[in-house]
Order: sequence, then C-alpha cells, then structure tokens
Amino acid sequence: MKQRTLAIIKPDAVAKGVAGKIMARIEEGGFTILAAKLIHMTDAQARGFYIVHKDKPFYASLCSFMTQGPCIPMVLEGDNAIARWRDLMGATNPANAAAGTIRKDFASSIEANAVHGSDAPETAAFEIPYFFASLEIHPR
Ligand code: ADP
Ligand code: MG
Repeated sequence: MKQRTLAIIKPDAVAKGVAGKIMARIEEGGFTILAAKLIHMTDAQARGFYIVHKDKPFYASLCSFMTQGPCIPMVLEGDNAIARWRDLMGATNPANAAAGTIRKDFASSIEANAVHGSDAPETAAFEIPYFFASLEIHPR
C-alpha cells in the first residue's frame, strides 16, 4: 500500500554534513521524496511539532536541540512507508540501533539521533501538513 510519511534530517546530521548521505539511503531504500526544504525552526515551532512529548522530561532539551541549527523536513512516499522508514532509521537510542541503520551510522546520542519519522498514519497526517502545504508536495 502506497503511503506517505514525514521524515526530518535533524540539526545534528545537517551540521555534520551527512544530509546527502542520508538522502541517498532514502532513495536507495525505494522511497520517493515528494517534498523537502531546509528550515531553521523557532522554539515555538519545535514545541508545537513535539507537543505529544510535552510531559516528557526530555521535552525542553529536545526542543532546544531541534532549534540549534537548520533541519530538513521531507515527505517520503512508498509502499508501507511509515514502518519502512522507521526500520531504515533504526532505534531511538543509537546504542540499540541495528547495523546498517541511519541512526547506527550517523546518530550521536539518544537525543541527537540524526532523523525523525512519523510513527503511525494519524501522526503522519498531523506532521506532513505541519511543514508542507499541498502545493509544496509533488506527487509523481
Ligand atoms: P522516535 O524519534 O524514535 O520516534 P520518540 O518519539 O520517543 O522517538 O522521541 C522523540 C525524540 O526525542 C527522539 O527522536 C529523540 O531525539 C528525543 N528523545 C527520546 N527519548 C529521549 C531521552 N530519553 N532523552 C533525550 N532525548 C530523547
Ligand atoms: Mg516519535
């Protein structure tokens, strides 16, 4: 089933200069990038995006990390894209991430973990329009 998911190359990965390598893995993984842009989030934008985590102890630190530099949100499309992108990302904590995953190879810590991916269709339905208007998404 063709599905869309929201991916972000997080500020740590952009700062390290591995955004291109991560995009190559996305394309080699059979995803189509329907939308992408480089943005530098404000604190309010990061807090809104991660509102689901507002009661977690790491919320403030996470929002600060996500605003430390530019990041690259993207809309990915492919068969079973939500689960497949999370598989390619690897576990939240890179110490637990499987060999060959993006987080295993590029993450620095459980917080600075290189990439984001929607975790369910309802989440993608919130996250994709958080960053992209319909006219910025290019179906093909
Ligand atoms: P995922 O990104 O794998 O879906 P979560 O949704 O649980 O993980 O958490 C969102 C983000 O918050 C993580 O990707 C990571 O950047 C950060 N995070 C999660 N757990 C922790 C933690 N225990 N300490 C610091 N940051 C965390
Ligand atoms: Mg999550």
